[in-house]
Amino acid sequence: LSLVEATERPAYLRLEGVHKRFGAFTALESIDLEIAQGELVCFLGPSGCGKTTLLRIIAGLEVQTGGRLAQGGVDISRLPPARRDYGIVFQSYALFPNLSIADNVAYGLVNQRRPRREIAARVDELLQLVGLPGSGAKYPAQMSGGQQQRVALARALAASPGLLLLDEPLSALDAIVRVHLRNEIRALQRRLGVTTIMVTHDQEEALSIADRIVVMNHGVIEQVGTPLQVYREPATPFVAEFVGKVNRLPAVAEGERWFRCGDRRWQVDADHGADFRPGRPVMLYLRPEDRAMTGFAPDHPGLCTGTVAQIEFLGGNCLAELVVDGLPGPLQMQFSLNQMDEFGVQEGRRLRFALRLDRLRVFAAPEV
Ligand code: ATP
Repeated sequence: LSLVEATERPAYLRLEGVHKRFGAFTALESIDLEIAQGELVCFLGPSGCGKTTLLRIIAGLEVQTGGRLAQGGVDISRLPPARRDYGIVFQSYALFPNLSIADNVAYGLVNQRRPRREIAARVDELLQLVGLPGSGAKYPAQMSGGQQQRVALARALAASPGLLLLDEPLSALDAIVRVHLRNEIRALQRRLGVTTIMVTHDQEEALSIADRIVVMNHGVIEQVGTPLQVYREPATPFVAEFVGKVNRLPAVAEGERWFRCGDRRWQVDADHGADFRPGRPVMLYLRPEDRAMTGFAPDHPGLCTGTVAQIEFLGGNCLAELVVDGLPGPLQMQFSLNQMDEFGVQEGRRLRFALRLDRLRVFAAPEV
């Protein structure tokens, strides 16, 4: 994993000041975004944040109320969907139930009046590509949800589009199929090198497959970054809370990026836009793994002691809630099962650890 921007390549898709209003309601406020050739980008955000609307504007299925879009150097702002160069997969499988799998995949190619033999060969190739060789004669109703989404993917890729648009393609599938298929989509996307945008509300999905994540909320982009950037260096409180688990503690600024949290005083390297004038309320954010159990100096400024109040098992690891001496609220800390044995993490036990103060993010306290 790299903290460096995924790419410095020229933009394949460029959005400038794209906005969308539905009547008096603003669904998207002036979106600027560049996506490089071959990138896989996830639009991530809660329901209603505008991610689907943005994807539909890129597809031409929704018309923006302002701003411009360019794909491959061509202004597509006013192009109807049929004249744009993309394949799309929707959440619901959207296959034609009365057509065979082969005919479903061939649909766009037939419309392009390609020779029949060429189409048949391409359909075979695509079904092979999505792991469904030899199933061209079947009908959608004979296939599982995961298989139908593979067919939809083959159909979207049939005409070798410059852009692949995926609108929550996995959210109707059960957990195991979902993880399997997302890895296959990733592998396929890498192999073909097709620039891809996937809309999802599932942060784990976005973290696991994206080159870059566009985190959206209330019609604005909160952050664009690699999965590691978005997780480690959230730009806003919203990103810190929406992507991954995070601890929040209230604190009071004391100037010069110093602040008091309970009876502890700490300083951070960057202000992230928080107002550090003395007396201003700020909020600390810290991931549950950002602490050391061993190897810290006895005078480490983040040194803490606390009591394990509760343990939540999550399979290979657990989240322990610690009531930490001198802090104004409990902290969730993540331990692997091996670490639980090693450090004696059990309810009621006292633990000594050092908070990774270098990983703390401090933002202005949310307004109440
Ligand atoms: P979800 O995951 O629920 O689909 P989303 O982030 O994709 O959420 P959008 O579907 O883009 O959100 O919708 C953004 C906002 O725009 C929502 O508040 C929605 O109600 C509104 N909206 C979307 N389409 C229309 C429409 N045709 N008319 C009016 N409002 C709309």
